[in-house]
Formats: sequence, structure tokens, C-alpha cells
Amino acid sequence: RVWARGRGWGQLKTPLTSIRMVAELMLSGRVRDEKKMSTYLSVIVGESQRLTRLINNILDFSRLEQGRKTYRTAEVDLTGLLKRIIEAHRLRITEEDLELDIHMDEDPLRVKTDPDAVEQVVLNLLDNALKYAGSGRFLRFDLERRQSGAVIRVCDGGPGIPEGHRDRIFDRFHRVDDSLTSVQPGSGLGLSIARQLMRDLGGDLVLESGPDNGCCFRVEILERERE
Ligand code: ADP
Repeated sequence: RVWARGRGWGQLKTPLTSIRMVAELMLSGRVRDEKKMSTYLSVIVGESQRLTRLINNILDFSRLEQGRKTYRTAEVDLTGLLKRIIEAHRLRITEEDLELDIHMDEDPLRVKTDPDAVEQVVLNLLDNALKYAGSGRFLRFDLERRQSGAVIRVCDGGPGIPEGHRDRIFDRFHRVDDSLTSVQPGSGLGLSIARQLMRDLGGDLVLESGPDNGCCFRVEILERERE
């Protein structure tokens, strides 16, 4: 498997290496400055979270490959879910100099769907925006109710996706061959997994043209009856 041969697994090493190095530094007793200590701790927390996201992608990838992926249905408040995700990543967003633009009602928007799958999809889109559209001026989240569910949009003001790649970015292992992508870690699996998760749940993941040439990913969530 291409994935197992390095391209994918290799990515796990980077966060693990950072965690180990920072933890060793803290253990060495050489750092006394409290501010530095708390920066190191936030590196450890951030890198562990990144590791979790990568591992969840790998687990989903292999379950989908083997037809073993299962879904659970629950009544989810999408407003609350999105707010929680945005809050958990606010620091990363501001560190990339992105202005957060959130368009959603305060009221809960309840839909029956698989909350873990929706979270994994939004996290993949958020990670991509941070990787490829950093300093892209803004990151926008929209949430709207639809007759049969809801739509979430994640839009950025980055460079967008070149014309010839717009369909292919949803293919397995497909990465745009430009300088922007080559400096960022990745396996080209995130969007293919995310689209598969949404389609399995009866919805979809679609690329729209974003404002100012950036990109907008539309997550269509279909209300699900219990399986
Ligand atoms: P990965 O990020 O691991 O390479 P993905 O499947 O998530 O894989 O994305 C596929 C490719 O689509 C990326 O390699 C990148 O070239 C492009 N891409 C994804 N999101 C964005 C974005 N927000 N802006 C620009 N390019 C993007």
C-alpha cells in the first residue's frame, strides 16, 4: 500500500518528534522561565491534537478501504459543534493571521447525523485552510439550515485550487503540484476521506469558487433516520 510505504505514516513522526523534543527540554531542568514552559506545554497539546487528527484519518481511511466503516446517528446541534471546533482552534487560526468570519445563528441547529464524521470533515477543511491559505486574510464558516438537513461552508481567501485540479483534489493521494503544497505535510487523503464520509451519510462535499479566488468547501449534511 502506498499509504503504508511512507508517504502517510511518515507524517506521524513530525508531531511525535516535536512532542519528545519539547518534553525532553522540559525534563532537562534547563528551562526555568514560566512563560517558556507554558509555550512548551501548548506545543505538546497542539501536536498531540494534530496526531489525533492524523490517526483518525488513517483509521477512517483503512476502515473505508475495507468496507468496515460504521456510522452512528445522534441528534447533533451543529451550531454548538462548530463553535466548539472553532474555539478549540482559535489560537492556530489567529497565529496564521487569519481573520475569523462566522456566519451562523445563535440558536441550536439540530440535525440527525454522525457527529464524529462531521467533526472529522470540518477538521480536515480547517487544517487545509491553515496549511494552504495561511495569511490568506480570512477564514469563514457558514451554517445554514436546509429543508432536509444543513449546509456548512468553510471558505478561505487563499490562492484557491487551480482549474485543472478542481475535481482531482477529491481523488486519493492527489495533491496539487505547486510550491505551496510541496512545503506542507500531507498525503492527499484528507479530502477523499471527507467526501466519502459525507456521501456515506447521504450528503456530499463540494468545492465552490470562493470569494476573491480563494476556495469554499460546501459540506452538505442530510438528516438521517436511525439505521
Ligand atoms: P493533503 O492536505 O494531505 O495534501 P487533501 O486531500 O486534504 O490532502 O487535499 C488535497 C490537495 O488539495 C492538497 O494537497 C492541496 O494541494 C489542495 N488543497 C486542499 N485544500 C486547499 C485550500 N484550502 N487551498 C488551496 N489548496 C488546497
